[in-house]
Amino acid sequence: MLHIGCHLSISKGFMHIAKEAASIGADTFQFFTRNPQGGRAKDIDEADVKKFNVFAKENSFAKIIAHAPYTLNICSDNPQTQEFAEMVFADDLHRMEFVPHNYYNFHPGSHVGQGADKAIAMIIDLLNKLLTEEQTTTVLLETMSGKGSEVGRSFEELAAIIDGVKLKQKIGICLDTCHIFAAGYDIVNNLDGVFAEFEKIIGFPYLKAIHLNDSLMPYASNKDRHAKIGEGAIGQFALERFVRHQAVKDLPMILETPNDLAGYAAEIKMMRIASDK
Ligand code: FE
Ligand code: FE
Ligand code: ZN
Repeated sequence: MLHIGCHLSISKGFMHIAKEAASIGADTFQFFTRNPQGGRAKDIDEADVKKFNVFAKENSFAKIIAHAPYTLNICSDNPQTQEFAEMVFADDLHRMEFVPHNYYNFHPGSHVGQGADKAIAMIIDLLNKLLTEEQTTTVLLETMSGKGSEVGRSFEELAAIIDGVKLKQKIGICLDTCHIFAAGYDIVNNLDGVFAEFEKIIGFPYLKAIHLNDSLMPYASNKDRHAKIGEGAIGQFALERFVRHQAVKDLPMILETPNDLAGYAAEIKMMRIASDK
């Protein structure tokens, strides 16, 4: 069975978001660990978290994904931004242990001037500093569209980060269909080729989750604009074929399409039907 959900607001707690997810046919979801612009996270409500852990098990939820704030930029050349990134990352990892054995996804970051190699070294350093043997969370690097000086625009850059991380069992990749298409991976005309390249450069064992989005912007545009399924340059047919592919069909998939709840429910249903074909 396809594991699919969407990005939802956690502002009313884990039980609320889990019931909302279940109500639209989802068996996973994604949420921001705090305001996407950064700032303080809400205190963990232990009773709520306990109930959620039971609910998720009883309802056979797949792993859920916490998304780091967009402002988290580990490889910034600004020491204050760097310090903020480390503080948020450490705090989020600590909080994730209240919902153990799930995923923490982050954007590798943008280097402003110092070059990709330096940026990759900074990301590796922080991961080696913060990841622990004891943590149950797997940290996911998101594939990026390559706008500006974004790191993670190619499988090679992501592989270079993984290569430097000591605790490799604590790290993985979240593949965003909109982002890789915009970055120049042709999942419309050459899906098998893209997956073969992923396997060769990074390796399937590292592929842990999917962001399932259509792309408003054309192939290889290096622009990051999500579209509803079927309303972008990737298209419904290619995304339906994508979710059925052997390489990804068992992974949790998160819609980050511009939708309300009813819209998400419809896309989840569409993708579940497609996965059964
Ligand atoms: Fe993201
Ligand atoms: Fe994404
Ligand atoms: Zn995006």
